[in-house]
Amino acid sequence: MAKPTAAVFSFTCCEGCSLSILENENELLDILNFVDFVEWREAMSEKTTDTIDIAFVDGSISTHHDVKKIKQVRERCKMLVAIGACATNTCVNSLKNRYGMSELKEMVYGEAGANFDTIPARPLHAVVPVDFEIPGCPMQGEEFIRIVQALLIGKAPRLPNYPVCVECKRKENVCVYDKGMFCMGPVTRAGCDADCPSYGAWCEGCRGFVDHPNENAHWEVLKEYGLTVEEVMQRFDIFCTYELEERKAKADQQERK
Ligand code: SF4
Ligand code: SF4
Ligand code: SF4
Repeated sequence: MAKPTAAVFSFTCCEGCSLSILENENELLDILNFVDFVEWREAMSEKTTDTIDIAFVDGSISTHHDVKKIKQVRERCKMLVAIGACATNTCVNSLKNRYGMSELKEMVYGEAGANFDTIPARPLHAVVPVDFEIPGCPMQGEEFIRIVQALLIGKAPRLPNYPVCVECKRKENVCVYDKGMFCMGPVTRAGCDADCPSYGAWCEGCRGFVDHPNENAHWEVLKEYGLTVEEVMQRFDIFCTYELEERKAKADQQERK
């Protein structure tokens, strides 16, 4: 039986998520026994125009050219997997959405700004149907391997649906709130093994929200430590702006029903 084909495509991003696939050196060799990579800018020079079984895509959609290209990728692949926060949640690219596009282009490129193609940044699912999303900045290489294994045996892959605090407590870390810091762990999807708090830093929420975040409990924690909602929103600005807007739009829609 022919091996399924896979390709990795990058849009607006640092391509750190495609790189994190390469960093799984040992497991990747095993994966290559079951999948044929046919295009992957960081790893090979070959390109293809054929139909692909699985397309892994990192990066946000932030130009008209991106829109055209992701639609072409979608048409050519049987399954599209968004990898990393830029692709799933717009990540730092959403910072540009604070400005008008003409203002932004002028700010960055001066008079030459009019020559550049830019639109507000969006995650892939805002432009084309996406079959699965792997969060994180960068995506966790081990999680990628686990999900690819599930896809190859036809199982529905799953992400942890509990907050980073659970992993953090399991590791017996001292909570950074007790060190006077702020942390998004109570509302952020686990799966990174509480990487940042384990090294004494706070969680910035790079994996996006857990499905049903207990926001009230988080506000209570903030109150206990003398923090404000505004300070929280500043944190959300880095990774979760787009997701917050989507949630708000959904809630408004439900309210109107
Ligand atoms: S999610 Fe982070 S690591 Fe991945 S491509 Fe975007 S900025 Fe780079
Ligand atoms: S450090 Fe952050 S993730 Fe860890 S327990 Fe405290 S709030 Fe939760
Ligand atoms: S602790 Fe938070 S910011 Fe750090 S990797 Fe995990 S989800 Fe991302």
